[in-house]
Amino acid sequence: MMVDYNNLTIKEAHEGLKNKSFTALELIEESFNVAANSESVLHAHLLLMQDEALANAKETDKRILKGEMLGELDGIPISVKDNMNLKGYGTTCSSKILANYISPYDATVISKLKDKGSVFIGKTNLDEFAMGSSTENSAYGPSRNPWDPDYVPGGSSGGSAAAVSVGTALGSLGSDTGGSIRQPASFCGVVGFKPTYGTVSRYGLIAFASSLDQIGPFAKTAEDTKIIYEAISGYDTRDATSLNLKQRKLPEDKSAKVGIVKELMEDGIADDVKSEVEKVIRLLEKQGHEIIEVSLPMTKMAISIYYLIAPAECSANLARFDGVRYGLRVDGKTSYEMTEKTRAEGFGDEVKRRILLGTYALSAGYYDAYYGQALKARNQVVTEFKDVFSKVDYLISPTTPSTAFKFGEKTSNPLEMYMSDLCTIPANLAGIPAISIPTGLDKEGMPYSVQFMSPELTDISLLNFSSYVEKLISFKDTPTKWRRDP
Ligand code: GLN
Repeated sequence: MMVDYNNLTIKEAHEGLKNKSFTALELIEESFNVAANSESVLHAHLLLMQDEALANAKETDKRILKGEMLGELDGIPISVKDNMNLKGYGTTCSSKILANYISPYDATVISKLKDKGSVFIGKTNLDEFAMGSSTENSAYGPSRNPWDPDYVPGGSSGGSAAAVSVGTALGSLGSDTGGSIRQPASFCGVVGFKPTYGTVSRYGLIAFASSLDQIGPFAKTAEDTKIIYEAISGYDTRDATSLNLKQRKLPEDKSAKVGIVKELMEDGIADDVKSEVEKVIRLLEKQGHEIIEVSLPMTKMAISIYYLIAPAECSANLARFDGVRYGLRVDGKTSYEMTEKTRAEGFGDEVKRRILLGTYALSAGYYDAYYGQALKARNQVVTEFKDVFSKVDYLISPTTPSTAFKFGEKTSNPLEMYMSDLCTIPANLAGIPAISIPTGLDKEGMPYSVQFMSPELTDISLLNFSSYVEKLISFKDTPTKWRRDP
């Protein structure tokens, strides 16, 4: 039978496989049907792995017949952002400098999903080295928003968000340094979750800004993102910042106290976005939640802090792309000239801008004034969140200052592009978990969303609470125009 992908969740697909309503092979074939209908316009993937995916689906079907299913992710189609190593395939980071690089090993998140029997559909498009908010910085051309291809899907994990929104994959992996999971999730009307820093191993993720980078899932529901999060998280000796600590539990229903972040409901946020957040607040009030307004004054500084720390770390991390160790090499008369030419040709403009910013912020004489100050300010952000979380369990805010924008709208002004991360960056600076949940559509038919944040190591409670809120919101629309009738 044909699998009806409309609104299918991981949970439902798992039930369908278990009850033999359809086979894993049928499920994966439908993934590639959706891809065939949509990829030429949406370009969510840089690479599709059809042969291997179909072979893996057959393995799942054999396990199902033997009654040996590996769990809820067995046979589930998953796409992976192309900045994570998947052995034997390229990892381009959407950069020309890594055009020929083949991953020699699996990232920890990949081997964990392989152990669960997940079927990888392909590698998804991103802004080069995850720097950007629209996928317009991809060296291989942008992805488009499944709700309306005139709009950007967000970024940097735009391909991963689009893949789940259109239904090529039922779940996907992204990375979030300043909002790169939550902002595209918001623009594409899917759920995107950035976990507590250190709970998901970064081993095998190509680093952008190591103290902020965190891998996390996209899916249609909070419950599905929880299934993926539980599979990919855990202590890993191969990541020096991996945490070996237990989760803490928070109230997950009516008894939860919610704080509205005052500074994220002020200037710089579109009125319709604020009203949408207020709509969710009213839903929570109706349930009897205690809701108070809280102040996090340092969130106003978050973008300034981020654009010192992230470029500083990126300038160090990207020094390894020197024409010797990985990827592209452009010949020169001396080794210096070779490296210079390789980097000049291999990196795009935004990546060069970040390297310049970061090198400047770290240079002798400026280090204390810029990078040093930014580190101190970051500590204040952490302290403010701690104070606020002594009063409330969760924080609510918009995910993005506006709904999705059109191609080219912000490319000429990098600062305007940077402002897209106004509401998401604070959680990265503080290392806390944060999630974006779709809530409705604006008058152009583009998705609205809301963001929830919680204290570090309360990821599972945040995900359970999000499932509860999702039911109150009850928004289930998906962009259907890419699908044939089943
Ligand atoms: N848009 C932000 C940036 O350009 C965040 C990117 C990310 O989270 N990877 O840096």
